[in-house]
Amino acid sequence: MILKFYGAAQEVGRSAIVLKLDKTFMLDYGIKLGTEIQIPVSEPKIDALLLSHAHLDHSGDVPALYKDQDFPAFATNPTFKLSDLLLKDSINIAKKNRTKSQFNKKNLSKFKMMQRPKRYHSEFEFGNSRISFHDAGHVCGSAITRIENDGKTIVYTGDFKLSHQLLHNGAEIVKSNVLITESTYARKNHPVRDELTKQFIEKIKETLDNGGTALIPAFAVGRGQDILSMLEKNNLTPRVFLAGMIKKASGIALNHKEFMSNPHLLENAMSHVEFIDKKHQKRILDEPAIILTTAGMLNGGPVLKYIDKLPNNSHIFLTGYQVEGTNGRMLMDSGYIVDNGEKKKINTPYTFFDFSAHADKNDLIEYAKKSSPETIVCVHGDKDNAVALADDLREQGFDAYAPQLGETIKIE
Ligand SMILES: [Zn+2]
Ligand SMILES: [Zn+2]
Repeated sequence: MILKFYGAAQEVGRSAIVLKLDKTFMLDYGIKLGTEIQIPVSEPKIDALLLSHAHLDHSGDVPALYKDQDFPAFATNPTFKLSDLLLKDSINIAKKNRTKSQFNKKNLSKFKMMQRPKRYHSEFEFGNSRISFHDAGHVCGSAITRIENDGKTIVYTGDFKLSHQLLHNGAEIVKSNVLITESTYARKNHPVRDELTKQFIEKIKETLDNGGTALIPAFAVGRGQDILSMLEKNNLTPRVFLAGMIKKASGIALNHKEFMSNPHLLENAMSHVEFIDKKHQKRILDEPAIILTTAGMLNGGPVLKYIDKLPNNSHIFLTGYQVEGTNGRMLMDSGYIVDNGEKKKINTPYTFFDFSAHADKNDLIEYAKKSSPETIVCVHGDKDNAVALADDLREQGFDAYAPQLGETIKIE
């Protein structure tokens, strides 16, 4: 068995791992967001793609692989539908910014033609491998991939969350001989979700009571639905104006209810919110309201139409990880953002809420122990985190390793 790392090796982003058995698999093929978009180190020839979930750091460069080869792609149905949405959007963003996209609509169409959707737990064969997907508890359709070949089981976690979220059960534990695990938060534990949600809701209510706007930027896939469900549970959705891709992503999720534990929460939320477009912009800012919109890291999207026009007593709620080089991170570091090449000072106060959909330090170790592999490979974490997890796991008696970019490892 050979593993080669085309990305996500001592970094978060551009997950792309080649697994060579009798056939060659690509596990995810994403991009790395930041000041500049980074793609996997090269485009290898493969026999099949196994896609863990829709986020662009896992799916963002898949169509580029179809430029001069054909191969089937396996994932859950919502993963395909949500990644189609995000990939189409990234072509449009590139066009708008006059930057070159790594792929075109034709490549995306080919990817769509080669999609072979699978349900959780439904085993299929490819070459000498038996493959199945299991709930990763991260976002709608996210999967932990199990590959059994020649008496050995390889498990790739993708991004996962062990504890439950409002719309998702925690990740399933899958036994393995070789575990390829994410390590995004290998050095910290997340705050208790219920407590954090309480603070989040209280701050929103306080903002509305003071006559301000609660501006909540969120990622279209995952966090958008998560926030909608929190607001619904606290009877705040009738005060929500929804803009951007969160609407479409929520619609796709609701078409695949069997991939969520509490779909009715999202369904009710969507029936209570008001959808907005450009012409409503002024009216929204005239009354105390909640605006939920993309982009989650303030890099483009409708959020930029509102962020420097907010009335007094407004508040900005950052709800996810802010990658270095993005507007969200700049706001946190310096109080400025850049919009259309123009530097803008943002005077509205903000709070960062650590609503992570990833396993934390304790979860990563617990998952490894329960999966009980002989060998563990730590990916999808920056250098400090990937190496820290490998060190921690070695202390627990595992053979654990954090590979470097471009590295090839052979496992007997
Ligand atoms: Zn993800
Ligand atoms: Zn990821």
